[in-house]
Amino acid sequence: MNIPQSSFPRIVIIGGGFGGISLAKKLSKKEVQVVLLDKHNYHNFQPLLYQVSTGGLEPDSIAYPIRKVLQNYPNFFFRLAEVNEVITKEKLIKTNIGDLKYDYLVLATGSETNFFGNSEIEKNSMAMKTIPQALNLRSLILENFEQALLTDDLHERDALMNFVIVGGGPTGVELAGALAEIKKGILPKDYPDLDTRRAQINIIQAGDCLLKGMSSKASKKAEDFLEKLGVQVWKNTRVTSYDGKLVTTKTDLTFESATLVWAAGVQAVSLKGLNAKEFLTYSNRLKVNEFNLVEGFDTIFAIGDVALMETEDCPYGHPMMAQPAIQQGKCLGDNLVRLLEEKPMKPFEYKDKGSMATIGRNKAVVDLPNFKFQGVFAWFVWMFVHLFFLIGFRNRMVVFINWVYNYIRFDREARLIIRPYRKNYSQFKD
Ligand SMILES: Cc1cc2nc3c(=O)[nH]c(=O)nc-3n(C[C@H](O)[C@H](O)[C@H](O)COP(=O)(O)OP(=O)(O)OC[C@H]3O[C@@H](n4cnc5c(N)ncnc54)[C@H](O)[C@@H]3O)c2cc1C
Repeated sequence: MNIPQSSFPRIVIIGGGFGGISLAKKLSKKEVQVVLLDKHNYHNFQPLLYQVSTGGLEPDSIAYPIRKVLQNYPNFFFRLAEVNEVITKEKLIKTNIGDLKYDYLVLATGSETNFFGNSEIEKNSMAMKTIPQALNLRSLILENFEQALLTDDLHERDALMNFVIVGGGPTGVELAGALAEIKKGILPKDYPDLDTRRAQINIIQAGDCLLKGMSSKASKKAEDFLEKLGVQVWKNTRVTSYDGKLVTTKTDLTFESATLVWAAGVQAVSLKGLNAKEFLTYSNRLKVNEFNLVEGFDTIFAIGDVALMETEDCPYGHPMMAQPAIQQGKCLGDNLVRLLEEKPMKPFEYKDKGSMATIGRNKAVVDLPNFKFQGVFAWFVWMFVHLFFLIGFRNRMVVFINWVYNYIRFDREARLIIRPYRKNYSQFKD
């Protein structure tokens, strides 16, 4: 890997997401050698992926080069590498570009889509966890309308314009709202020769409410907003299969659809060497103590989505969201320095800053610890918070300008099929 030997202890961080980057920033200018590895050379701002999928933002505006984050940090090394295995006994990791020894290892590998073992759904549905996946979805949505225009089979046309989103969390709700706005504001102008009023957006939730982690007020309001936008909300409905054409559920309800977006769950990205049953807990997360130390080890830490820290307030671990990852990264940065200075580490304390989701133009729900509100003000708060947490001045400017432009013009001009996604609905017919 061409990493020089150093008199400083080597800390290897796997993953340049929210957790990994906040940890790296904390370790800048400290007497350590830091090696950050990621299989992508950019940080992906996942909360805005749905806007890429729906043509509201260009992908570049929600990605930021990891090398730029580390540019002015001495003793920092980034390698574009996929880590395959941890040999804990040798304090060694194996990657696709070679092996590397560590003194301390931090797993910040995040999570991936969880299909709960349903390989048919995995094969035929669309996930939205990475930028390439968001671009695939954007292409598919647009290609569906292009195909719908060409067929004279009404049945097929309806299926091409029927979107099914599984999962009523923030991702599902935000995507459903954005698709409904496209249906209302863009499709009639782009496809005047297609009866786009027949397009349907369905959101399916296994439980009895949307936005389960938020207040009942936020959940109810989100549902109202979606219904006002024409989205069909199906609760207490569990999807059982999807063959690329027909969505079946545990009830009699079925949907003929060319597009199923799976936003129903995530599971931690575990690595070989640490993926035995004794290390993993709920959702494949690694059990860590209050210092983010992986149980059973004294030099391996985990932060963010991949870490499960049981506390009184969060018996199933902290929510798999950006804030716990950022806060754990910062806390671990301080703790690693304390550890090296042979001072006692400080336990992690999660400060819940609230949660929010946007359903569309002027429509959002915000739950702050002491204040819950919905509507236009919530929407502005949502935008401000997302701009604030985006990495990079250019990205903030580009996103801001796009949002102002889209707001004034009722438009989403990134509706481009740059990289076609090859899924031809006709192949699934019969
Ligand atoms: C569509 C979507 C919307 C979301 N919306 C919100 C929201 O509104 N608010 C919110 O708080 N949270 C939201 N989240 C969740 C939030 O993005 C995650 O909780 C957060 O990214 C977790 O941070 P992390 O550092 O643990 O992992 P990540 O940010 O996912 O970073 C993990 C990094 O590890 C790298 N990696 C993984 N495996 C390997 C490997 N083997 N080798 C090398 N590199 C590897 C990945 O490339 C990635 O860069 C959303 C997530 C998604 C998918």
